[in-house]
Amino acid sequence: MTDGVFSYSAVLMGSPILLKLFDDNPTLARQVFQLIKQQENLFTVNRAESEVMSINQAAGRNPVVVSEPVFALISVAHAVSLLPDSAFNFTIGPVVKRWKIGFQGRAVPPANEIAALLKLTDPHQVVLNSADCSVFLLQSGMEIDLGAIAKGYIADRVQAFLHQQGVQQALINLGGNVQTLGSPPHEPQGWGIGLKKPFGRDDELLGVLQVQGKSVVTSGIYERYFERDGRCWHHIFDPQNGYPLDNELLSVTVISDRSIDGDIYTTLLYGMGVEQGLAYLADQPDIDAVFVTRDRQIICSSPRHFQFQQRDFAWQLRY
Ligand code: FAD
Ligand code: MG
Ligand code: MG
Repeated sequence: MTDGVFSYSAVLMGSPILLKLFDDNPTLARQVFQLIKQQENLFTVNRAESEVMSINQAAGRNPVVVSEPVFALISVAHAVSLLPDSAFNFTIGPVVKRWKIGFQGRAVPPANEIAALLKLTDPHQVVLNSADCSVFLLQSGMEIDLGAIAKGYIADRVQAFLHQQGVQQALINLGGNVQTLGSPPHEPQGWGIGLKKPFGRDDELLGVLQVQGKSVVTSGIYERYFERDGRCWHHIFDPQNGYPLDNELLSVTVISDRSIDGDIYTTLLYGMGVEQGLAYLADQPDIDAVFVTRDRQIICSSPRHFQFQQRDFAWQLRY
């Protein structure tokens, strides 16, 4: 405990998980970690068994009935994948599995293999039936991957659970997905969420975002990547070509009420890049974003839901 904060940690979903409370309540922390574990068991594609794996294993053969929450999240992921020019594609699974970024055996696959796998990533080839909550991947070899949305959804589930338990001030960090309740006691400015310096040490920050009761989600190319042939091959793929998205960005951070939106928008905005992303956000009053670029700029959308305190002045801040 420091400053009245009680921190609890775990490793779940291959990620460090941190819960901050203002009461010493290990029982509640255990319940939160159990909830996350239970959600991981539904959505994971890193083990042989989960509801999502049962859909993937039946690809090209038959529809699979899933639970209502799994069907609901898949329906959202499907709709976002079908948006015009969407960089988000929840059927990217075969590409993710082949590159293995963040896992043993990662390597740059031969171009002809990537081209062949891309044919298995068409979200139009997913049939959702709301009458029985069934999901059918029409082609054998297709695979759903909810890696770009599930952590956001789960962070919101944790927030709702804590709220239900009467907690008014808390923070959950699922490794890149932060969701908060209220503000810390005696800190009217809200929670300070560090914006990491890309490829820096954990304690090296570009700045701190101040938020109250908001979610802060960061997607970057510097957490899961490997270097080969002088290039950084990271885990956010361009669904058009099956290669890591290659543009001016190092990271995108989204500030929103719901963490599921933050998770979705980080991926969408990654695909848009800075200029198109800023123009898009002008019409989204509930979503703010911070873009960090290869040429050392920190670019904030008009900050409606956060304040930014710069720490590293070697980077240029602009709004
Ligand atoms: P985001 O930028 O939000 O998402 C990137 C991830 O989305 C990629 O890793 C990929 O999975 C997917 N993706 C890539 N490109 C696209 C695209 N264009 N459209 C849509 N999706 C895309 N990691 C482990 O190391 N071991 C585990 O056992 C493990 N289990 C997990 C279980 C669950 C339920 C979840 C949600 C994640 C798990 N992870 C695990 C982490 C996972 O592999 C991803 O790395 C993680 O979800 C990425 O989240 P992010 O917020 O960092 O990145
Ligand atoms: Mg994410
Ligand atoms: Mg995401």
